[in-house]
Amino acid sequence: MQDKPATHSPTRPGVVLCLSGHDPSGGAGVQADIEALLALGQPSASLITCLTAQNSQRLGSMQAADPGRFREQADILLEDMHISAIKLGALGSSDIAREAANIIRQLRADQPTLPVVVDPVLVAASGGKLADDAVIEVLLEDLLPLASLATPNHSEAQQLQPPEVLLANGCQWLLLTDTDSSTGATITHQLQGPDATLHSFNLPRLPGIYHGSGCTLASACAGYLALGETVPEAVRKALDFTRRSLEQARDLGHGQRFPNRSPR
Ligand code: PLP
Repeated sequence: MQDKPATHSPTRPGVVLCLSGHDPSGGAGVQADIEALLALGQPSASLITCLTAQNSQRLGSMQAADPGRFREQADILLEDMHISAIKLGALGSSDIAREAANIIRQLRADQPTLPVVVDPVLVAASGGKLADDAVIEVLLEDLLPLASLATPNHSEAQQLQPPEVLLANGCQWLLLTDTDSSTGATITHQLQGPDATLHSFNLPRLPGIYHGSGCTLASACAGYLALGETVPEAVRKALDFTRRSLEQARDLGHGQRFPNRSPR
């Protein structure tokens, strides 16, 4: 029996905790997170928020996890491991979203600077709703105000709140990704932070449409933050990792391409 839970141990290597949905195709969701973090050499643990039926072309259905079992999994994990960063993806239901907020608050009580990356997943890569209005409400009320970094694309951002409102409400940094909103040869992702800091990241547009690019980016951000990078540097490195994963994407199904996050 230990005097203190392992969560408080400063000597144990940290684990990036991913709260994400399961995408059986492996392109997005928790498998994307685990693969990206593995490629970065970061240990990860996962709490599954929802199960989806989908492939590279369409979303069949989404079923949220049972909140009681989700909480039990969190409790048993957190009594044992030291968490170095949290990454949130699809949340499944407002009950799970509220549990996610409870987990963050619980960990932040002992680790006030624990990095939290919120990818506000609202629709599946192939289209199809992954968040209802109740989930969006918890995102706005509870989760985005706890985010060290949020990574909405333009269409997600339009369904949330204006960037200045999100930042005023507590979200520390906001990375607005541009892939879904422009058609030009260059895409510009904008990172807004405290005191109106603004960083722009220009990247050449890659041909094709990808399944899980947002998950890859957000989990790589969490991995680099866990390694102690500043938010702008973590974003720069995560964008570079994501670009390389997309450049080597494979056609594993008949629709969207699959990022190749193999360690290299
Ligand atoms: N999480 C889950 C479980 C998903 O199924 C999806 C998309 O289908 C996403 C997240 C977001 O995918 P993307 O990174 O392509 O936006």
